[in-house]
Amino acid sequence: MTDHKAKVLEAMAALGLGSRPQSMINGDLVDGCGEDVTLVDPFTEETLMTYADADAPLAQQACDAARGAQSGWAKGISAAQRGQIMQDISRAVLAHAEPLAVIEAIVAGKPIRDCRIEVAKVAEMFAYYAGWTDKLHGEVIPVPSGHLNYTLREPLGVVFQITPWNAPIFTGGWQIAPAIATGNGVVIKPSELTPLTTVALVKIAQDAGLPPGLVNVLCGLGPTAGQAAIEHPAVRKVVFVGSPETGRRVAMAAAAALKPAVLELGGKSANIVFEDANLEQACLGAQAAIFSSAGQSCVAGSRLLVQKAVYATLIAMLSEGMNQITLGDPLDEGTEIGPIGNARQFTHVQGMIRQAQQEGATITSRTHLPTQGFFVPPTVLTDLTNAAPAAQSEIFGPVVAAIPFEDEADAIALANETQFGLAGAVWTTDAGRAHRMAEGVRAGTFWINSYKAIHVSSPFGGSLNSGFGRSSGTDALMEYTAAKSVWLDSAPTPRIAFGYVS
Ligand code: NAD
Repeated sequence: MTDHKAKVLEAMAALGLGSRPQSMINGDLVDGCGEDVTLVDPFTEETLMTYADADAPLAQQACDAARGAQSGWAKGISAAQRGQIMQDISRAVLAHAEPLAVIEAIVAGKPIRDCRIEVAKVAEMFAYYAGWTDKLHGEVIPVPSGHLNYTLREPLGVVFQITPWNAPIFTGGWQIAPAIATGNGVVIKPSELTPLTTVALVKIAQDAGLPPGLVNVLCGLGPTAGQAAIEHPAVRKVVFVGSPETGRRVAMAAAAALKPAVLELGGKSANIVFEDANLEQACLGAQAAIFSSAGQSCVAGSRLLVQKAVYATLIAMLSEGMNQITLGDPLDEGTEIGPIGNARQFTHVQGMIRQAQQEGATITSRTHLPTQGFFVPPTVLTDLTNAAPAAQSEIFGPVVAAIPFEDEADAIALANETQFGLAGAVWTTDAGRAHRMAEGVRAGTFWINSYKAIHVSSPFGGSLNSGFGRSSGTDALMEYTAAKSVWLDSAPTPRIAFGYVS
């Protein structure tokens, strides 16, 4: 047994999990009944464990369980009590932070220091939404008829959430916390490649007081377990985080059942550097934007737009900088970049670099790599246009397309020449220019002299192929509730007449 395998099993045992991924249904850990799924360690390239897909029968049970537990959670206890339980969950997550971070580091291939930060952020998500449980006020609307008209914000019922492999526990907390704060039941299906920390999170939450069955986890595949949950009559909304291709399929399946969907998809975000920027900071920002998490981030700054006067200088600084980054074992404290998360993605990223080279791009890559693992070197592509596939398709690896621009108008035009609309950034010392860029670039999140700052209290989402709807902040409270309009007629004689409603 390798050191990694022993450590992941030890962390699973510390969290009360068995030796393989099991779904969490109605408070119990349950084996699936479908085809075998294998987890491979992206650093050692060895098989970690195999488990059976949850498949449709467990999806059915999960949705039934969430429906059964939801009304007691929404109506059987006070909103303040829900908040107290969520505060307890937040503290419990922090108390189990290390084994959660170890599992995430090994199975997803992410540096342990990043995993610790993400686990702490999950605790913050539960604490943040705990504070909202008893503050969801409706409105009183001065309708002209003289009725007393007020709104109630009601939970939807059961929501089905689907998450990807690149930040499993972070994305799980990001969606579960607002859903339960607003009184919903949840079925969540993490990626089949990284299911363990989501199951562990829900187990920790249950041990901290979350009613069994309120949040259920399906360990398994999209077309089987995922599709069955989308179709289940208890599910009232589908929240999908993943690729545009799968998002389109999920949205169509939800639409076929007349269910709304939120889609949080990919991006090809423009990181724009003007000649008046502090180039050292801009270079560090550009490295963090595309090389951290080995570029496997939906908001990665995968297009670097640089004003012509400083283009050559910045590219030289970036190329020099990428040789200073520490690549290695995700469990090593000093590792800044781990491997690509799985074999399929590894092949995809290598293929995109090869294609860019065949199409004439100049490739500048980091010179030395670890001798094992799915590592792709941090890479800068130059001598390509914004129309090239490597500048238009999401690569989801540590690969940046660097493109020069003339002026503000040119930068905005290039930034918006994409099918995505997720994020963007500008580096400049001119405040007016910064605001003009923030207004001009199509993005759900935009940074000025910064990159990748996100917080649970601020809305997050995209447009076009980056999806629709918003997660986090108060926007998520709206996504997970529906307004009910209540009319009370206070007139002495009821004012009921045909044709009253138009
Ligand atoms: P993916 O689309 O392959 O898979 C995402 C999830 O969908 C997985 O859980 C998968 O099992 C499930 N799935 C697959 N087929 C399905 C089906 N037919 N029905 C239901 N579910 C199905 O994405 P991935 O490769 O896991 O993740 C990478 C992608 O996620 C990138 O495009 C990245 O940009 C995106 N992402 C977006 C955000 C965001 O918030 N916008 C955050 C993280 C990742």
